[in-house]
Amino acid sequence: MSMKFDRPMNWKELPAGCLIDEAATSLRFKTGDWRSMRPIWDAEKCIHCLFCWITCPDTAITVQDGKMTGIDYDYCKGCGICAVICPPKASAIDMVREEK
Ligand code: SF4
Ligand code: SF4
Repeated sequence: MSMKFDRPMNWKELPAGCLIDEAATSLRFKTGDWRSMRPIWDAEKCIHCLFCWITCPDTAITVQDGKMTGIDYDYCKGCGICAVICPPKASAIDMVREEK
């Protein structure tokens, strides 16, 4: 059963089990503009272990043919996990302050 509401409601007024029709989707919203820190990848240092790809919570590490190719800044939120997980012998990702 679907219901239409004729006025904006707060969450306490919504019926239990209500589904919102126009929920946000990352297909339309580029979540990368929330970022305050930016990972910078050094392709020369990268050993393509793909630890960053496995652990990135936003699937923002791009890979082709089993090798890292970069970072998708449209979706990277700057959490820094990739920089922490990158092996010390590579240290291929540095976090820098995002410039506006
Ligand atoms: S900073 Fe976070 S979101 Fe951005 S690429 Fe690294 S792990 Fe993914
Ligand atoms: S974790 Fe570091 S060395 Fe491994 S693929 Fe990512 S950037 Fe390259």
